[in-house]
Amino acid sequence: MSSTTDPTSVTRSSSETPRRVAPTHDFTGKLRQPSLLPRVHDYVVWQRERRAALARGESGPAMPDWAPLSINLDLTTACNYRCDHCIDWDILNSPIKYDYARLEQSMTEMAARGLRSVILIGGGEPTVYPGFESMVRHLKSLGLQVAVVTNGSRMERIHAVIDCFEKGDWIRLSLDSGSNETFETMHKPKQKITLDEICAAIQPMRADNPAPLVGFSYVIVWEGAEREEGVKVVENIDEIVMATKRARDAGFSYISLKPFLTRRPDGAEVMDPEAAKNLDATVARIRAAVDEAKTYETDDFKVVESINLRVLEQGDWREFTHQPRTCHMQLLRQVLTPLGLFNCPAHRGVDKAMIGPKDSWAGESELRDAVQSTEGILDRFDASHECREVTCLYHQVNWWIEDAIENGTELDAGVERYDAFL
Ligand code: SF4
Repeated sequence: MSSTTDPTSVTRSSSETPRRVAPTHDFTGKLRQPSLLPRVHDYVVWQRERRAALARGESGPAMPDWAPLSINLDLTTACNYRCDHCIDWDILNSPIKYDYARLEQSMTEMAARGLRSVILIGGGEPTVYPGFESMVRHLKSLGLQVAVVTNGSRMERIHAVIDCFEKGDWIRLSLDSGSNETFETMHKPKQKITLDEICAAIQPMRADNPAPLVGFSYVIVWEGAEREEGVKVVENIDEIVMATKRARDAGFSYISLKPFLTRRPDGAEVMDPEAAKNLDATVARIRAAVDEAKTYETDDFKVVESINLRVLEQGDWREFTHQPRTCHMQLLRQVLTPLGLFNCPAHRGVDKAMIGPKDSWAGESELRDAVQSTEGILDRFDASHECREVTCLYHQVNWWIEDAIENGTELDAGVERYDAFL
């Protein structure tokens, strides 16, 4: 097998910790934690042996029955909003559903094979799923870290299970606005609900259990941004500061600010900053608003800038579109949805990114197939081509692992952060 290593990227990417990455997006730092590093180490050894065997014309060792360390779990594709800027618009409200018992079994089997964390997210609104509460309790009973990304419309369902959340778990609300009017225009809830009502639910929930962090997520949308060709989305740069004040006063732990992403016709999730009218002026407006937002930080409330925001500002997003041929994250983090098991959130619902069916981990024979299919997609899916326009947050970590496989660099242990979310 020919080398997939790009020397310039390896040199650039194999340094200690990427300079501009917030801890939550520092996936190299996360995988260097003593609690996660052994799996990365075993994977690197397996890949080295396998590539060496293939180079000799022999079949390599089969992949052990490793589950991913972390999954995005879409409980449902159903959603009670109709957001213009929704990146998963095409897969929403599919009639395909899980068999609840088999989904629980999948989680049990994965936890026995190394799964450490689950992000309940969508492709759909997780709290709309009838089994939401029992699934959260099941995941916590397995000792997993759990996070929920929600539109905030059913906070009572999260409040009902808040007792089982622990330090290290988190809840993030996708709100993207500072006023009730912009919230309504952007999200189009099917049943009337206001930003005021959603924010009013935070303090009572945190009073019952302050352990999990609770975040206010704000996708920054600029003039000219389109979900897909011809579908314009609402600009919200002017409400960044208002939203930050609101988030602090409502009792959130942080506000996270990230630029809008769009989907290419082939399904890949990409940043398209050139769609902004007058890009430099737009970026300057965003920076001024973010800097002002930061003046509202306190000991208990932070403003978190996503790596994509830094990349947009520095204009170096093309660097993040340069991936090794093998995306190693396909083993370490997968996406389970009612439509099937996929290799990455950026390719959720896309056929060529599918690893297997929705019950891929639900029993002995199924999980053997899931392991084989994971091994297959590590070969089949050429990330250097398929992700060539994706501003990939896993860019650094993929090159770090590639460097270890090809060049034998040491995988040094880092600091334990008790954060297994990937
Ligand atoms: S290279 Fe990045 S975008 Fe592509 S599959 Fe891997 S993690 Fe996803």
